[in-house]
Amino acid sequence: MFFLIFLAAAALVVLGLRVTDGSRLARAMCPEGLCFVLGTAVVGFAGLCYLTLWGEGAALARNQVSPALVAGAQLWILAVGIYVLSALRGAAGFPAWVADLIVLGAAYGAIRADGRVLLSVSSSMPDSPALPLGLWAVPLTMGWIWMVARMCAALSRVPSVSGGFLGLLAGLIFLLTGTASATHNSFPPSAMAALAGAGLATFLMSLRFPHLNLGWSATLAMGFVLGVASALELLKNTLPAILALALLALGLPLLDVTLVQVRARLRGQSVEWSQTRQRLHEALASRGVAPRKIALLYIAIGLWTCKLAYCVSRWFFEGPTHPAVTLLYALIVVGWTVGGAIGFFSIARLLMRRVPGEDVPESIEAFGVKISPVSMGEALDKIEEFIARGTPHHVLTSDANAILTSRDDPDYAAIMRRAALITPDGFGVIWGARLLNLPIYERVTGVDMVTGICERAAKKGYRIYILGAAEGIASTAARNLSERYPGLQVVGTHHGFWRRDPKNAAWTAEDDAKMAQEIAAQNVDVLFVAMGIPSQEKFIAAQLECMKTPVALGVGGSFDVYAGKFNRAPNYVQRMGLEWLYRVWIDPSRWKRMGYVPKFMLVALKTWLSRPPKNGAKPASGAF
Ligand code: UDP
Repeated sequence: MFFLIFLAAAALVVLGLRVTDGSRLARAMCPEGLCFVLGTAVVGFAGLCYLTLWGEGAALARNQVSPALVAGAQLWILAVGIYVLSALRGAAGFPAWVADLIVLGAAYGAIRADGRVLLSVSSSMPDSPALPLGLWAVPLTMGWIWMVARMCAALSRVPSVSGGFLGLLAGLIFLLTGTASATHNSFPPSAMAALAGAGLATFLMSLRFPHLNLGWSATLAMGFVLGVASALELLKNTLPAILALALLALGLPLLDVTLVQVRARLRGQSVEWSQTRQRLHEALASRGVAPRKIALLYIAIGLWTCKLAYCVSRWFFEGPTHPAVTLLYALIVVGWTVGGAIGFFSIARLLMRRVPGEDVPESIEAFGVKISPVSMGEALDKIEEFIARGTPHHVLTSDANAILTSRDDPDYAAIMRRAALITPDGFGVIWGARLLNLPIYERVTGVDMVTGICERAAKKGYRIYILGAAEGIASTAARNLSERYPGLQVVGTHHGFWRRDPKNAAWTAEDDAKMAQEIAAQNVDVLFVAMGIPSQEKFIAAQLECMKTPVALGVGGSFDVYAGKFNRAPNYVQRMGLEWLYRVWIDPSRWKRMGYVPKFMLVALKTWLSRPPKNGAKPASGAF
């Protein structure tokens, strides 16, 4: 039945919104907010009538049928009344406190309409009665309902998500209470099912029609409904969870303000309050994030906080459990909270893009390595510049592994310092850099550079040499690339295991020198070395002058891909930053090396919390 109410409200609101979307007359007569409020109220009240007269709880409480219906009708009339009066207040230009008075008056009306709409002190023991608050009960309940309504109204600042948030909150309250079948015939379950349906349908609509806006008055009125539902007797044991939810989900702007403050404190800096009052969605929009992505991010954050509030309520406020179980629950909740906060903060930062006119330096020091914040096109232009100069240049693509290696290996660190160009390769580097708010946005990977360089080389006649990978791989890759880019001159290939001659396990510097001379003899413009980190960089650094190649670039396992030995991760996996996991999936022998992933995450988090970027690079975007 509740699912039907949910669907009916969703259908009615979608229908109403479609009508308002099309016709100007209908728009003037029936703004989205009114359509939302009326749709929810009609379905919510119809559901209440059905449940009261024929539903499961009806038989148990036949003598309560008419009081329950009357109370329900009064509460819905109050909600619609808030919407109408608040809209009139807005039209007349009266100040916001007039709306506060309207809500407080309606809250008082709700308490009179249903005697159970009163806060009381809850007990975690299932059967022990709630303690009444005496004289304080009425003002505290009015204050509570007003607070929830006002917090919901604040959601209208982010139009595309306000419906979704209302739906999530209603869904949460429904999940916490809807199973109590004996009380099905009271106001909250049908109201919450209707509001959840209407809200979530509106959110889906707003992804298609970004201008859709429920407005302040409708969110205020629906906030009143949520406030009343959460103050009803049913929710005594879940009030703390609802409060947590209100703080987390509705206080979303608090999240970034708090993070900025905490980070500044840890760094011994002070941040002006005005600096931190940048709303998350405004910051994201100004950094080129599409409204639809912002909306999805907000709803994902809402889902996360709802799940958190649900667990807190179920685990801690529903009777005693064994202390060890409680401790386990507490650990899960802390993990979920911290993991979610860092995760969503990272996602928000990762979604940001370079904006026109952004002042981006030539290179940026990230985790001790000087990385060039170039796009793929810019990196390829630089490579062409190096070829035109003709002097030897070492180009490096740096992933998290390379950064960690440079921290442990001074020789490797020195090579990195001398490199002509270091591009950000792995997702880990981008994540870490974005966490520090450094203007590094785009992965420029070795494997993509190979394609880009070969494409330009085919047009401009650059001479390419491929060194590395197992026997036969380099030549197969060369053939495949030449087929893909007709005119490409691959002037030589060699496998990468000359150092491991089976008859002569020990290799000498002379072997490397011989290899370098062979390459030098080919008059190469671009040398790809595919031997993995750090061997490829060490070989290039030691032999660069001898080889005289204008560009020598370490590209790891790229030729295994071009030779068809392994597939590249699908685009969506790359976009999700999970290419490293995909590579482990197709080549399980890589598991052993994956220790660098958590190690780099710890390094990045420690740097984020403890140190400002050393190079003095301006953070990419104000406070957020
Ligand atoms: N390789 C090589 N000589 C060696 C060791 C490795 O040519 O002595 C090759 C190996 O066959 C593989 C590449 O170097 O094709 C290393 O790829 P990996 O995936 O380890 O590098 P990453 O992309 O992770 O830097």
